[in-house]
Amino acid sequence: MRTHLRQIVLEYTLPRPLFMKTPIWIKKNILLKKYNTFGLETKAKYFVKISSKDKLIKTLQWAKENSLPFFILGNGSNILFLNKEFPGIIIKIENNRIKKINQNKIVVGAGMMLKDLLKKFIKENWTGLEWVSGIPGTVGGAVFCNAGGFGYDIGGLVKKVITIDPKTYQEKIYSLKDCKFKYRDSIFKKKKEIIWEVELLIKKGKKEGIIEKAQEYWDYKAKRNLFKYPSAGSVFKNVFAKEVLNKYKKGATIKGGKISVGWFIDQCNLKGKKIGGAMISPYHANVIININKAKGKNILDLIKICKEKVYQKFKIKLKEEIIVIHY
Ligand SMILES: Cc1cc2nc3c(=O)[nH]c(=O)nc-3n(C[C@H](O)[C@H](O)[C@H](O)COP(=O)(O)OP(=O)(O)OC[C@H]3O[C@@H](n4cnc5c(N)ncnc54)[C@H](O)[C@@H]3O)c2cc1C
Repeated sequence: MRTHLRQIVLEYTLPRPLFMKTPIWIKKNILLKKYNTFGLETKAKYFVKISSKDKLIKTLQWAKENSLPFFILGNGSNILFLNKEFPGIIIKIENNRIKKINQNKIVVGAGMMLKDLLKKFIKENWTGLEWVSGIPGTVGGAVFCNAGGFGYDIGGLVKKVITIDPKTYQEKIYSLKDCKFKYRDSIFKKKKEIIWEVELLIKKGKKEGIIEKAQEYWDYKAKRNLFKYPSAGSVFKNVFAKEVLNKYKKGATIKGGKISVGWFIDQCNLKGKKIGGAMISPYHANVIININKAKGKNILDLIKICKEKVYQKFKIKLKEEIIVIHY
């Protein structure tokens, strides 16, 4: 009885943690299955879709005041959720405005889907973006990862990137040089800033040629059954190392000075390998697919096996292209 009373007194006298009222635009306990292309059945404690800078800042302030971690989401096509629940707030960027500055430049909201931007390019006869055909990401996600393919990448079109700093809530401007774009890499992987708008270069082309190229790139992916099962595209980065190139150039698939990493995984007979509901795609060894309610851990275990086997056979250390969320 005494202990019980003591507990009650303590509960009322100890300072309570400051927990500000949740703004109405923030949702609680949201399933993330449709927000990650692996289709993993994970949950977010809090979730919000943001298309205005004002709401973004208020949300970041609320997260900070409540000591909640935040994660910036584009279209969830390059991420792997490991756990059942993300304990903080997922902020899905949805500003998708587009503004023409002059004959050579446009400014695009980071939440714009690449496929919608490609449609705009086709409508306006602008060339240079055909290679995004079949990439299910946003402009912000593409800039963060420096997405690319067929010898092109988004860094090749960027003029400027505008971010919001979550510490100061101020805008920052990155010139192309500041972005430090490299193969599937940019400065934004090191900064925890929110990519808000991107200035891109545009160039006039011929409509038929643009459509033809975009179709060709789409068909290339479709032939490898990339759209058939839930996945996050390529799991590992391709291999650049010169000594590896020289050693394996006869057998391996070489594109743009890189050995396709799928070749090494395939040589370890891992195509079709399953763990739980996840499988190394039988069509493309650098892709892991969700065939039956896979868990993040199943995918991670397949990643570990690929790394181990490729290292044992070739002494090559594979590096992930997808972003693993360890919460
Ligand atoms: C079928 C398929 C095909 C694919 N083909 C390709 C391909 O050919 N080439 C290629 O490069 N990739 C490919 N991918 C992978 C993926 O689509 C790209 O990397 C894409 O650019 C990721 O964008 P996203 O909006 O989905 O980012 P998300 O997966 O949502 O996020 C990826 C990372 O970017 C960060 N991020 C996203 N938006 C912002 C923002 N506004 N500000 C700050 N950080 C942000 C996230 O925090 C996360 O760390 C493919 C994926 C699939 C499923």
